[in-house]
Amino acid sequence: MNIILLGPPGAGKGTQATHLVDSRDMIQLSTGDMLREAKTSGTEMGQKVAAIMDRGELVTDEIVIGLIREKLQGDKKGGFIFDGFPRTLAQADALEKLLEECGETLDAVIELRVRDEALVARIVGRAEEAKAAGQPVRADDNEESLKIRLMEYYKKTSPLIGYYYAKGLLKRIDGMADIKVVQAALGALLDG
Ligand code: AMP
Repeated sequence: MNIILLGPPGAGKGTQATHLVDSRDMIQLSTGDMLREAKTSGTEMGQKVAAIMDRGELVTDEIVIGLIREKLQGDKKGGFIFDGFPRTLAQADALEKLLEECGETLDAVIELRVRDEALVARIVGRAEEAKAAGQPVRADDNEESLKIRLMEYYKKTSPLIGYYYAKGLLKRIDGMADIKVVQAALGALLDG
């Protein structure tokens, strides 16, 4: 089973993806994680995207599509969880083609719905928690970048909600609920 987790920054996509990896042996494909890795290891691509990511803007479709293409080649285990990808209609089209090429299908797109005011609080909280635990704080987890990340989401990513609804793939979950409740709702959707 291959699914997309869709939702604004701070909606809980990463948290829910991690749980699905543990409970269902699925493979999490987070383009954000892959890009941060490239940034940290200082590859040419990583250097190119660093400033864009720190500002909270989207990197080019070409780069993220290339990253996903590479990952679709290997073992598919319990299926793929696309986390933070696709983020534009061009990426959504590319994903459809890539899946077709490797004989896979997209089974569901799950939108995690959260109130905007809650996102700011969650992301600022995430930065504070990391700081308190002596862990690195994401360079884009600050109010200024978050504003841009939200704007990018509404301008470029939210049209995907209508797109996948029209394809009959969209399912919605209340992302404001407790993590465990969201987990249960997600599990029920995938089994249903
Ligand atoms: P995330 O960890 O998903 O919040 O992504 C962090 C940052 O990586 C985003 O703000 C973008 O700069 C970049 N990024 C991640 N995924 C994508 C994508 N699918 N398309 C474009 N940029 C992306």
